[in-house]
Amino acid sequence: MECPACHSQTGFSQVEKWLDYRLMCCGECGLTFSDPMRSASQEYYEAGEPYGWHWAFDYFLGQGSGEGRTLLDVACGNGLFLAAAARRGYAGTGIDFNLDAIREAKEVHGVSDVHACTFQEFRQKYPERRFDVITSFHTLEHLEAPDAFIAELKTLLAPAGRLIVVVPNPERWQVRYRRNLGDYPPNHLTRWTAKSLQTLLTRNGLQITRTLTEKIEPHSASDVLQVARTVVSLQLATGVIARQKAEIGLGAASGNGSKQKRLAMLRRLASLKAPVTGALSYMLVPVLYPYLRRRKLEGEDLVVEAAQGSAL
Ligand SMILES: [Zn+2]
Repeated sequence: MECPACHSQTGFSQVEKWLDYRLMCCGECGLTFSDPMRSASQEYYEAGEPYGWHWAFDYFLGQGSGEGRTLLDVACGNGLFLAAAARRGYAGTGIDFNLDAIREAKEVHGVSDVHACTFQEFRQKYPERRFDVITSFHTLEHLEAPDAFIAELKTLLAPAGRLIVVVPNPERWQVRYRRNLGDYPPNHLTRWTAKSLQTLLTRNGLQITRTLTEKIEPHSASDVLQVARTVVSLQLATGVIARQKAEIGLGAASGNGSKQKRLAMLRRLASLKAPVTGALSYMLVPVLYPYLRRRKLEGEDLVVEAAQGSAL
C-alpha cells in the first residue's frame, strides 16, 4: 500500500470500513484515502446533483481583472465558473467528460471554448497550448490517480502560471454536523487536509503560494437560507439516496433493467425532495441567523494555490 499524496508506504491506520472499501489515513501527510482507489462509473455521475456555485469562485474572481490571461478550468461542468471568468476578462477554456454539461455550457452559458473529452485527448489535440491559470474545483477527491492528475496539470501551466486546486474542506460544518455519504467512496476516494494537498503539489515541483478555507459569514437571509437548505437536505432521506447511488456506481444493481429502474426511482425521489426542502428551509432561517452570526462555521472549500516552480 502506498499513500497517493506523499507515497509513504508505512504508518497507515484504518479509519473505517464502508461497502467494499477500507478508509485508510496516512500518518505522514494526513490524507485519508480509500482502499482500493476505485471510482464510480459514469452513470453514477449522471445521477448526481446539478452543478452549483462555490465560494471559491467568488474568492478567485474577486482578485482582479483577468484581461489578457488564459485560464483552463478542468472538469468545468456546465461552465458556470467559465462564464463568470469571461466577464472578468479571462480567455477561458474548459474540459469535461460530461457531454450534456458541455452542451449546456455552450447553449445556456455561452461559453464557446469547451471540450467534451479526457485530459489526454485534449493534450493530443492541442499539444502546444499552455495556460496562465489552471483551476480545478472539487475534482481531485473523485480521482483514482490524483498524483498523475497534478503532474498532467503542471505540464499545461505556462512558465509563470498559477494553479488553484479546491477540494472539500475537512473541517466543513456539514461533515461535523452529520455523516455525509457523499464523502465516501466511490464518490470521494480521498479526503484532503491542507498538509496533504500541499505535499502533493510540492512533490510535483509546484510552489505553494497560499492556503485558505471558506468561512461562513452570513450577510443576508439568502446566505442563511443556503445553510438551512443543507441542514434540511441532510435530514431528508439523503442517506438512502447516497447508498443507492453508491451501489449503482459499484455495479451492485443486478442487470441493466434493474439499474435503469433504480436510476428512475432516484430521480423521482430527488424531485419530491426539492419542494419540501424549500419550505422547511424558509422556516429555519430566523432560528439559524443569530446562531451563524455568533459562530463562524467552516465552509465547504479548502483552497491551495501554487505557482509553477522548477521541475523536480
Ligand atoms: Zn501520505
